[in-house]
Order: sequence, then C-alpha cells, then structure tokens
Amino acid sequence: MHTNIDKFVKRKAERKRKRRKYDPEYISFGFIAMQTGADLPLCVVCLQTLSNDAMKPEKLKRHLTTMHSDVDSKPKEYFERQKKLYFKQKGKLMACTTVNEKGLRVSYLVALTYE
Ligand SMILES: [Zn+2]
Repeated sequence: MHTNIDKFVKRKAERKRKRRKYDPEYISFGFIAMQTGADLPLCVVCLQTLSNDAMKPEKLKRHLTTMHSDVDSKPKEYFERQKKLYFKQKGKLMACTTVNEKGLRVSYLVALTYE
C-alpha cells in the first residue's frame, strides 16, 4: 500500500546521507550554511550560494581567493562579522515573510467562508 512513499523516503534519506555537511570552520573561507534541506555553502562576501558539491575546503577557499582576492587574507573574525550582518538582514526579510504568510492564510480563510 505505502511502498511508493517508503521508497521515496528511503531514497531521500540515502541522498541526504551522501550530502556534504557544513563545518563551522568554513567561516574562515567566508562561508556559512544555507539550510534548504541539505547544507549549501553561502558566501558571506557576495551572498552567492554554491552547490553542495562545493562543500569542501579546497573549493570554498578557491572561491574566496579567485572571487574575493581583496579579502582572502582577512582573519576569521572579519567573516564572522559579515555573517552577523547577513543574519541581521535575513532577520528583517523573515519578518516580512511571516507577515505575508499570515496575510495569505487570512485570504484563504476568507475564500473558504465565501465558498
Ligand atoms: Zn563570494
């Protein structure tokens, strides 16, 4: 009966296991983790999200040295600061999203009432 779902869940779990995990040390390369089901490295300098395959110190370091040669010798603290700034910005964005979701739910309820 539920074999399809079981298979799907199993496949998803397998895929997840192969995913690379974010290491807190990656902040020294200017990267934080984007939580989208799997960890994706997000560059705090250009805010570009790389693929999960790029979740390797060599790749993250290469991004930093080739794309951001002006900050590649900055200490870890510099990127920690960028990270804080990013979350501050993100917090503002999330506050907006919450309001929008509430608005959506209200219009959905209204739609139901008039059905
Ligand atoms: Zn970057």
